[in-house]
Amino acid sequence: MAIKRTDGRSLTELRPMIAKVGVIPNADGSAIFSFGDTVAIAAVYGPKQLHPQHMQDPATGILRCTYDLLSFSVHDRKKPGPSRRSQEISKVTEWALSPALDLQGFPNQVVDVQIYVIQADAGTRTAGINAASMALAHAGLPMKDLICSVACGKLDKDIVVDLNKDEEDFKDGEGATDFPLAKFATSDEFTLMQLDGKIQPERVKEVIEAATEACKEIYEVQKKALKEVVKH
Ligand code: UDP
Repeated sequence: MAIKRTDGRSLTELRPMIAKVGVIPNADGSAIFSFGDTVAIAAVYGPKQLHPQHMQDPATGILRCTYDLLSFSVHDRKKPGPSRRSQEISKVTEWALSPALDLQGFPNQVVDVQIYVIQADAGTRTAGINAASMALAHAGLPMKDLICSVACGKLDKDIVVDLNKDEEDFKDGEGATDFPLAKFATSDEFTLMQLDGKIQPERVKEVIEAATEACKEIYEVQKKALKEVVKH
């Protein structure tokens, strides 16, 4: 029998999504994206000259992402400032987004993306990637595609999409497996795959299929939000 999800969703159902662009007027591009109680905000600054100079690449501009959870975003107040976790997520966010950006026209420059999670209920890196992708598009940077991201996984024996924190902590049966993914919106090219937990190799295909379907819904939400600003 299939697992009953803690919030009553079906196995393939995402949490309600909200997306809006242009939420930080001082930034060159900005967006907010939420999966249920997980809310991430992203701001883009640049392209601008990269300092220190030895990090510059004369062949292309580079993307630099900074991710963090704000102290009040979790129930047990999080210590402010960077951590190993935030450094890892900043790096994988950069890797997830970079393939969609074409910064060859900006040699020696950097595009800074700051991502802050203002409320966390699991899936913060994926919400952050969705917000950042929209913010980069809002900044008018040359992009091959939008990037869509979702954490899929396994609860006991069931493949599910968009795990919340209670589900990530699920301990019964085979327990929980968290499998965050990101992909190009309009092709099957994946730019992020991480795995926390265990999964049978033959079931990975099911996760990828579930993520692909979920990303179609995420893309629609991102597109709708971007079209809203074009209208004004
Ligand atoms: N979390 C927390 N305190 C922390 C770090 C994480 O309460 O210092 C919670 C938060 O809800 C987060 C979840 O644990 O969303 C899962 O974190 P994980 O590192 O798996 O990344 P995420 O699923 O957020 O991308």
